[in-house]
Amino acid sequence: MKELIVEMEDYASKKNVPIIEKKSIAFIMKYIKEHNVKNVLEIGSAIGYSAILMASSKEDVFVTTIERDEERYMECLKNVKRCGLDKKINVVFQDALDVNLSEDLKYDLIFIDAAKGQYTRFFEKYKYFLKDNGAIITDNLKFHGYVGKSDKIESKNLKGLVEKIENYIDFLKDNTEFETKFYDIGDGLSVSTWKDEK
Ligand code: SAH
Ligand code: MG
Repeated sequence: MKELIVEMEDYASKKNVPIIEKKSIAFIMKYIKEHNVKNVLEIGSAIGYSAILMASSKEDVFVTTIERDEERYMECLKNVKRCGLDKKINVVFQDALDVNLSEDLKYDLIFIDAAKGQYTRFFEKYKYFLKDNGAIITDNLKFHGYVGKSDKIESKNLKGLVEKIENYIDFLKDNTEFETKFYDIGDGLSVSTWKDEK
């Protein structure tokens, strides 16, 4: 298992796949244990690195993870099988904005880690699938240190993307339904929970 994780890290660095930083996944794994998380929904699987670590953090945790890129989806499936976690991880090959999840299952933890420009849309779509005492964790809120400095960025594409992350942070800060804590861990994480535990 440990070797497979290292192999995935090497693959990601060779192929430029943006997998989560070690400190950030350690934070999430701790969160899963401390809050007795059982069902996780992940938006953005890539090659399955974070899904595999989340699924292996505790015996009774199940992960549904969504990926729209075919090559990454195939690699994710392969890695999940090799780690022997195919009973604990369900990989969905589709754009997360098009997925129709079953209304019957709500999640203890939703991990948003797909296209950074669409964070607000993912949040608004998937909050309906969050349990009353659940949490939405978002990765890459610092976006390699660019967030907060979008006015100084020259590349139009990068500037647009960073502005969207800045807008998402404001959306979280001003949110009337959710309380959000921001953590300066890895590339920046947030944990959002319902304001009134229902
Ligand atoms: N969570 C992974 C890294 C995910 S990288 C880890 O830490 O190991 C982000 C991934 O989200 C990419 O593979 C990209 O293809 C995928 N993605 C981006 N937008 C998406 C969308 N709308 N629906 C599904 N997947 C998406
Ligand atoms: Mg990430």
